[in-house]
Amino acid sequence: MSGVNEIRSAFLDYFKKNGHEVVASSPLVPRNDPTLMFTNAGMVQFKNVFTGLESRPYSTAATSQKCVRAGGKHNDLDNVGYTARHHTFFEMLGNFSFGDYFKERAIELAWNLLTRDFGIDKNRLLVTVYHTDDDAFELWRKIAGLPESKIIRIPTNDNFWAMGDTGPCGPCSEIFYDHGDHIWGGPPGSAEEDGDRFIEIWNLVFMQFEQTAEARLDLPRPSIDTGMGLERIAALLQGQHDNYDIDLFRRLITASEDATGVPAEGKNRASHRVIADHLRSSAFLIADGVLPSNEGRGYVLRRIMRRAMRHAQLLGARDPLMYRLLPTLVAEMGRAYPELQRAEAMISETLKLEETRFRKTLERGLSLLDEASADLGQGDRLDGETAFKLYDTYGFPLDLTQDALRQRGVEVDTEGFSAAMERQKAEARKHWSGSGDAAAEAIWYEIRDKVGATDFLGYDTESAEGVI
Ligand code: ATP
Ligand code: MG
Ligand code: MG
Ligand code: MG
Repeated sequence: MSGVNEIRSAFLDYFKKNGHEVVASSPLVPRNDPTLMFTNAGMVQFKNVFTGLESRPYSTAATSQKCVRAGGKHNDLDNVGYTARHHTFFEMLGNFSFGDYFKERAIELAWNLLTRDFGIDKNRLLVTVYHTDDDAFELWRKIAGLPESKIIRIPTNDNFWAMGDTGPCGPCSEIFYDHGDHIWGGPPGSAEEDGDRFIEIWNLVFMQFEQTAEARLDLPRPSIDTGMGLERIAALLQGQHDNYDIDLFRRLITASEDATGVPAEGKNRASHRVIADHLRSSAFLIADGVLPSNEGRGYVLRRIMRRAMRHAQLLGARDPLMYRLLPTLVAEMGRAYPELQRAEAMISETLKLEETRFRKTLERGLSLLDEASADLGQGDRLDGETAFKLYDTYGFPLDLTQDALRQRGVEVDTEGFSAAMERQKAEARKHWSGSGDAAAEAIWYEIRDKVGATDFLGYDTESAEGVI
């Protein structure tokens, strides 16, 4: 049985054998796109190649791309721990054609890899096509020999990809695996498609149009962009339904069990999963230069780290936990991603420092939360004032509070939360007597808005160290 590291290599070798240039993953902080929070797909590093702004010495490529989907348009943070198939950090395997081959070859390459090289049972596979994409429909019949019932036409944007309001775009075709009727869920396009029975493994994007402000034109040289989750294909190849049961996650979860002495069973299972997942995203983000802070990318990282830390606390960990699991992650992934090895000491320190600081207020915050929500049950809402106090005084990101209440079906009044935050800002302005210097005041407000209300470290005795 192949481990994750072998499966990644097998994918890249297959495409190399088929004439593709193997290109390294780009960093998680996109270099060429300030509007994108994190790299969230394999095509990100090739955006300018697809639009023709940039050229490369190859016309086809394959990558295993580090991705984070924990903010912005694609946000899977709330799924982690609750679905079998979502991570905040994952690797996207992809092959790309820049005006070289198109639909037919793309389908052929994907189908042959899955069914021949990987030996996946054809009868369990089904695909979707965009409802008007007759070419793709016919090609799936011809190349894969799939019956019409297993080529599902989807009319929604799920099967039509676009880079933005303008630019390259086109229909896509996704490959799903049916794990069997013992698992809840329905085929794509059905009402139960969000279940975990039919798992999407590979998305093939056929970039064939250019959308301008006026019209949708045919691209003279259509291109291909594909993405397959390494952890999802690994689950299949290892005979597992759940991504968290693959070799890599088992080792991380075992490390977490050993360090806490709590087995990953019953209600504790989700906590171990969240910890394993969030350890990966935190470590890889720090390795790529993101540090926990109170705004932007750094705040997303802080939210991820603190959420994991709450779960560590739930498992009864008395001391900082995350940094102790890091050596296992580096042992598993450090060869494929040497930046992880290079940054190990720094990641370790950052995790330890953040957890040490957060633990001081975490416990007090949690008991406040327990008190305030003691009488709440399914369908009730925690008031926004309390959620804001947890945020402002105890450093609880809003999503941490939401996650803490989720298992009991309790929601948070997010409007009340925002209102409380606004009130605090207005209050701060009122008490600012001002220097009479309008420009200096404007700067003060800007800084205050950025860090003031969220800077819970102000209550921390170690705040002299500043915000890391
Ligand atoms: P899903 O519908 O399951 O959320 P998606 O349609 O959002 O997936 P794509 O944007 O098409 O995913 O990304 C291409 C592939 O990357 C998916 O087919 C899947 O294998 C993988 N993938 C996407 N999101 C995640 C995630 N959060 N964790 C692990 N793998 C993922
Ligand atoms: Mg998704
Ligand atoms: Mg999908
Ligand atoms: Mg998809």
